[in-house]
Amino acid sequence: MSKKLFIKTYGCQMNVYDSARMADALVPHGYRATDRADDADLVILNTCHIREKAAEKVYSELGRLRRLRERRRARGADMVIGVAGCVAQAEGQEMLERAPFVDIVVGPQAYHRLPELLHRRARVKASVLDTDFPVESKFDRLPEELATPPGISAFLTVQEGCDKFCTFCVVPYTRGAEASRPAAAILAEACRLVAAGAREITLLGQNVNAYRGEGPDGRPWSLGRLIRSLAEVEDLARIRYTTSHPRDVSDDLIEAHGSVDKLMPFLHLPVQSGADAMLQAMNRRHTADDYRRIVERLRRARPDLALSSDFIVGFPGETDRDFAATLALVEEIGFAQAFSFKYSPRPGTPAAGMRRQIKDAQKSERLARLQALLAEQARAFNAGVVGQVLPVLLERPGRHPGQQVGRTPYLQAVHVEAAGRGLGQTIEVLITESHSHSLAAVPVEPPAARPGANRRGMPACA
Ligand code: SAM
Ligand code: SF4
Repeated sequence: MSKKLFIKTYGCQMNVYDSARMADALVPHGYRATDRADDADLVILNTCHIREKAAEKVYSELGRLRRLRERRRARGADMVIGVAGCVAQAEGQEMLERAPFVDIVVGPQAYHRLPELLHRRARVKASVLDTDFPVESKFDRLPEELATPPGISAFLTVQEGCDKFCTFCVVPYTRGAEASRPAAAILAEACRLVAAGAREITLLGQNVNAYRGEGPDGRPWSLGRLIRSLAEVEDLARIRYTTSHPRDVSDDLIEAHGSVDKLMPFLHLPVQSGADAMLQAMNRRHTADDYRRIVERLRRARPDLALSSDFIVGFPGETDRDFAATLALVEEIGFAQAFSFKYSPRPGTPAAGMRRQIKDAQKSERLARLQALLAEQARAFNAGVVGQVLPVLLERPGRHPGQQVGRTPYLQAVHVEAAGRGLGQTIEVLITESHSHSLAAVPVEPPAARPGANRRGMPACA
């Protein structure tokens, strides 16, 4: 009889991808997915450590799972509890000391060993820990078979880890050094995703544009080169990538934005602050003007490029003037959407020990001001497309019959009255309404083919 698996995912898209790959690793060993923890023989929390209280949230969720397990045991069933992801990596042995009822603790580079860890735990009848950075790449060990079909829009990790060591960030410690997957493996995985129904692929990496994977010619490929090759995959309609670092925006990548139809005109390019003193203290290794110049070049290559970013307010030492420089940069660049956070000291990172930490009340006040400006820009961006005809990739059914939800090239969610159109199709729609987080639209008749939409390219998957 098959066993039931429930994975709860916290954090970024890379964790979403990892959770799917954990399922891929476990399904051949008799597991099948369930969407209820109380029903599961194996529960895995795939955790994120990026901001404060992440570990505390995991421990409180673990307490809940422990009680759930007791109730299952009372019914004669059992539950194995596993913790994966960056909190598992950061806490390691400490987690087993604080929550000894946890059965498996596995880091982000070792989850391909989950079946083996489950066996070992059953054999030794004790908790097991694997937070190694193994020599073998997990990608070489994970099964090719997809356990669950991807959505119309799928993620594909191409790069992991970070060598940048921004002073606020835990990623270099939890995910390890930058490493890129070979291009051939990525192309093969893209072909499998498209064969299983995906029409959009978002390439993922902690620093995705630092991609330097080995190409089929034995030379390192850049992200731009990889994107050009992926664009040849038949029936792949759209390509996106995230998250980028301004320092790794190469000429080649800018050129790809100008020349590859399938590369969508939306870019998440975190800047963190508009003040050079803060950027320097953060060890970002670029200035606010460097960022302006990069954006200018990208917009020259692709004039309709929509931008998104990450911001941190209240970094140690941030003055009113520094914060005003961030607001000024936002006013100047204009973002379609953005994420903004209060600086959160992470144990073990250089910024956590810096003097002149900012009081929480001040961080909150700055965050509210920044978010008001960003929300205003997002509203204006959405309102700006009303009346336009845009291609929308239909990704999932909407709330009522005949309605479908898709995305514009600029990543805006659109509710379309699109009865009779299949999911996975890209259709031309007239945008009729804008709201703060979505748009409404009606199809333009007859559905017109557009370059880059459902286009047949080279049969790269042959
Ligand atoms: N690699 C990306 C880059 O360089 O911008 C970002 C990756 S990080 C997972 C996502 C975002 O979390 C960062 O851009 C930053 O804004 C935010 N972040 C990371 N550490 C943080 C901290 N200690 N406090 C607040 N926000 C933080
Ligand atoms: Fe963290 Fe991104 Fe900086 Fe790397 S580049 S340390 S992932 S914020």
